[in-house]
Amino acid sequence: MLVKAAVLNKIGLPPPYATSRPLEIVDLDLAPPGRGEVLVRIRAAGLCHSDLSVIDGSRPRPTPMALGHEAAGIVEALGEFVTDLAVGDHVVLVFVPSCGRCGPCAAGRPALCEPGAKANGAGTLLSGERRLSFRAEPINHHLGVSAFGDHAVVARESCVKIDPEPLFGCAVLTGVGAVVNTARVEPGCSVAVVGLGGVGLSAVLGARVAGARQIVAVDLSDEKLAFARALGATHLVNAGAPDAVQTIRGLTGGGVEIAFDMAGAVPALELAYAATARGGTTVTAGLIAFVSIGFRHIWAYRERVKAGAPASPVATEKASTPSLSAISGLISSSVISGTSMRSCDSLTSVSATSSMAAAGRSR
Ligand SMILES: [Zn+2]
Ligand SMILES: [Zn+2]
Repeated sequence: MLVKAAVLNKIGLPPPYATSRPLEIVDLDLAPPGRGEVLVRIRAAGLCHSDLSVIDGSRPRPTPMALGHEAAGIVEALGEFVTDLAVGDHVVLVFVPSCGRCGPCAAGRPALCEPGAKANGAGTLLSGERRLSFRAEPINHHLGVSAFGDHAVVARESCVKIDPEPLFGCAVLTGVGAVVNTARVEPGCSVAVVGLGGVGLSAVLGARVAGARQIVAVDLSDEKLAFARALGATHLVNAGAPDAVQTIRGLTGGGVEIAFDMAGAVPALELAYAATARGGTTVTAGLIAFVSIGFRHIWAYRERVKAGAPASPVATEKASTPSLSAISGLISSSVISGTSMRSCDSLTSVSATSSMAAAGRSR
């Protein structure tokens, strides 16, 4: 069948993209679903920072690639051996297809699925196949989804069946997953969420669900702050205020127990880190670019850096100053691991624990 899709032909074209126009809307051939695959009519797709990171080259992927990985739709056809979905089912698409059989999957961490990560890196479906083509030339799939089109063929493992009413994809998986699975926010906890896009607002919801006592929403936009209040934030701080960090520290008696960077910008991660109480945890789900930044607080702490890269989980513990480019490298290489609804698994986290506080506190 023919599908209309947004295709990225070249990575790294200069902004503004309204001028350089890196995406082209073209008619692609979409092959029928193969064994273990599903044809989905896309009903809604979101633009995520991860799409932008492919466009700007901070997360290079093979081109040409049909972008889009946050979507929901309706099953229109089933490939061979797909027995647990039916035509007409509503599905949300996940950006890490989990094979269910590899080491991480067997260990209960399907968001780190190794075949899934390999397929995503290669621009194929989990089967290793590409179902999209343009004039007989194969087109790569984005994270096994390629949702910026009217239809997509995806692996069964990329679909989660849902009730027809709710609609959520990457933003909710990432935001709520970071709160519930990575940070394991407990009732009574104090948290700050820096950056109130789809992921950050979902983190606010997640913190509310988890029973956080204080939920400090932080953003440059007063409009987004007001929205965060409606979703359950207990305190609002404009990140542009010169005393934003001091305000958060004052509100929370010295900083929050867990701060989330959900903006993917260096100043946001710095703010989240600075707003974290001694012994607390800073979690980032943002796609920080490969830059070296001055992490002026981290040297004073005995820090633990955890990163769950899809193919090479890394856990290091150091007493000296880490290279921030190394940290951001870990972050960038591992955020793809993401979360999945089924997996309840972890995102990247950067945990900073002061030795003093760690000695005196259990959390
Ligand atoms: Zn995303
Ligand atoms: Zn797996």
